[in-house]
Amino acid sequence: MNMPGTLIIGDHLNGSVRDITKEMIGAALSIKDRLGGPMIVALMSENPGALTGAVNLQGVDQIVTVKTAGDHFDPHVYEEAALKLGERFQPKVILCGHTVNGMGCAAAVAARLGAGFASDVLGLDVENGELVATRGAYGNKVNLEVSFTGRDIVVLALRGATFPVPTAVGNAQITGVDVDFSAVTANMQHKGYVEAPPSNIDIAKAEYILSVGRGIQEKNNLPRFEQLAERMGFTFGCSRPIVDAGWLPKPHQVGQSGRVASSCKLYIAIGISGAVQHLFGMKHVDTIIAVNSDPEAPIFNVATYGACMDLFELTKELEAQFN
Ligand SMILES: Cc1cc2nc3c(=O)[nH]c(=O)nc-3n(C[C@H](O)[C@H](O)[C@H](O)COP(=O)(O)OP(=O)(O)OC[C@H]3O[C@@H](n4cnc5c(N)ncnc54)[C@H](O)[C@@H]3O)c2cc1C
Repeated sequence: MNMPGTLIIGDHLNGSVRDITKEMIGAALSIKDRLGGPMIVALMSENPGALTGAVNLQGVDQIVTVKTAGDHFDPHVYEEAALKLGERFQPKVILCGHTVNGMGCAAAVAARLGAGFASDVLGLDVENGELVATRGAYGNKVNLEVSFTGRDIVVLALRGATFPVPTAVGNAQITGVDVDFSAVTANMQHKGYVEAPPSNIDIAKAEYILSVGRGIQEKNNLPRFEQLAERMGFTFGCSRPIVDAGWLPKPHQVGQSGRVASSCKLYIAIGISGAVQHLFGMKHVDTIIAVNSDPEAPIFNVATYGACMDLFELTKELEAQFN
């Protein structure tokens, strides 16, 4: 039977603690009184001591530093460290970010510990002493509350930009822990980061964005929307499948793994369903116009104006207006 308490697997990139790590601390703090036990943050890095200041926040009792061969994320190293720390500290909950890094190890850690597991968690609660996690389902059309009856330990991957970050500084004890990585380090080798090629598209600075999604159906249709955006004086954005298909380069992508439309005043979403990862990059925009033939598309939940119709019909009208 595990002790109560939370172990947070810190996420960092290029020498900086990522926001998701602080958000996980906020999430753990919100249930700490009811869950009980200590809150421990684990930092795996070549020089973990340099990261401790950023996670010494309200509610953190202990920061555990684990020295690794490199500064970069390695799923096998993180998995091994999380497993060993889980066995050593016996927390009730292990939190990872629902990020590329977190998802690279969270499910494996859960499987190896025989733990309960939920990904993309957007809410946490404790009911009658039992942990309850909320996550989206069916393309985020509904929220599910997941409980973990019979599990001594639960691994959760938390959604980013969802939980508040504590503002007060903490008074955590810092402990170094040695983990033997000899069995895993030969599995893969980090060669370096590849910087994205320079681009004149800056989604973060654009005030007006016209974005297209999979609804435009084929690559041949793309120039039509690109020209329309240009004629309207809008920056041309897109959802991730358009980039994954190689139709547009990465700087055009709006969303969690793309860019956030931080300066945008007007966002037009054409043929975009409104998956949570896309909304991450644009749902804050003051005026959002969504065009989608599906009245149930989640994009309409954040749209200021919605046109539930065939996007090609509406595009024809816009082309006539902006010719
Ligand atoms: C870790 C992770 C990170 C991710 N990061 C991002 C990200 O940064 N950005 C991002 O966008 N996604 C991201 N995704 C992917 C995301 O989950 C969705 O798969 C993606 O946003 C869907 O893109 P879409 O809306 O273009 O496509 P779909 O979901 O396929 O939606 C297409 C829409 O077009 C509509 N449509 C079709 N034909 C017509 C028509 N003729 N007229 C009008 N409407 C029409 C449909 O009704 C549908 O709603 C990420 C996923 C993961 C797991």
